[in-house]
Amino acid sequence: MDIRLIGGQHFYYLESCKRQLWLYIHKVNLEENFESVELGRLIHDEYYQREDKEIRVDGMLIDFISRDGYVHETKSSKKPKKEHEIQPLFYAYYLKHILGYEQIKGAKIHYPLIKQVIELQLDEKRIQEVEEKISQILMIAKQKHMPEIHSNIRLCRKCAYFEFCHI
Ligand code: SF4
Repeated sequence: MDIRLIGGQHFYYLESCKRQLWLYIHKVNLEENFESVELGRLIHDEYYQREDKEIRVDGMLIDFISRDGYVHETKSSKKPKKEHEIQPLFYAYYLKHILGYEQIKGAKIHYPLIKQVIELQLDEKRIQEVEEKISQILMIAKQKHMPEIHSNIRLCRKCAYFEFCHI
């Protein structure tokens, strides 16, 4: 797997379950009608219905990039979480350090349900964090065998791969 194929979903699965990430990389895709994915799409569509500026770059689907150099990402959550940061930071990193768009400064995460916006600078610490996560994704992609089943059955029950892993 190549860094150009990495998208937001890889980071999401890296945090939630490495087996889920491996299945996704190996194209075992059961998520098409999964409820929480659909909710995220609905909120996104409603929030950006007048913006219509989604940008596809390699493996990424970016909500929009503002003139002040920030990549924007929308979350359907009612609570900002640390794990929401890595995806838009990766987009900012990729645009700046892989594709060479020097004007990129960082990312802004929008939480429309609670009317909050979190601003993140792409500083040295965050660059290092993004690079570590990229290495982890690429390592999992190289594994021949699926990682073990997650020990948190409550997490598994909410996962689209539940039947695949547990039945
Ligand atoms: S069902 Fe559990 S172990 Fe399987 S992919 Fe989902 S979270 Fe991971």
